[in-house]
Amino acid sequence: MLRKVSKKKARSLYQQRKMYASLERTGFCSGCGRSDAILTNSHLLSQGQYKQYQNEAWNLVEHCRQCNSDWQNHLKRPLFLDYARNMEIIKLHDERAYFELIGKESLKKQKYLGVA
Ligand SMILES: [Zn+2]
Repeated sequence: MLRKVSKKKARSLYQQRKMYASLERTGFCSGCGRSDAILTNSHLLSQGQYKQYQNEAWNLVEHCRQCNSDWQNHLKRPLFLDYARNMEIIKLHDERAYFELIGKESLKKQKYLGVA
């Protein structure tokens, strides 16, 4: 039996599919440069915290599965090849989120280094 979804949900799923289909496919991971890995999309601003951006094309980057997973780890982010570009994109669309992320990364780094 097919599960019924509300019209609102159906519209949202349709828009999401349309948006994903419109994304440019480069064939390589912009996080590590690999082109031999299965590619997926990372949300620059997380779907959980920034639900309003989950279906925005600017919020998605092409990453391999490893980078997709590592992008959740704020300590690893600065090692990404596309880190500077991603942060610029975030800053352009949500300056407040940008500064929150910078602060979070700085605090994590300080804790990691044992100075906080
Ligand atoms: Zn990668």
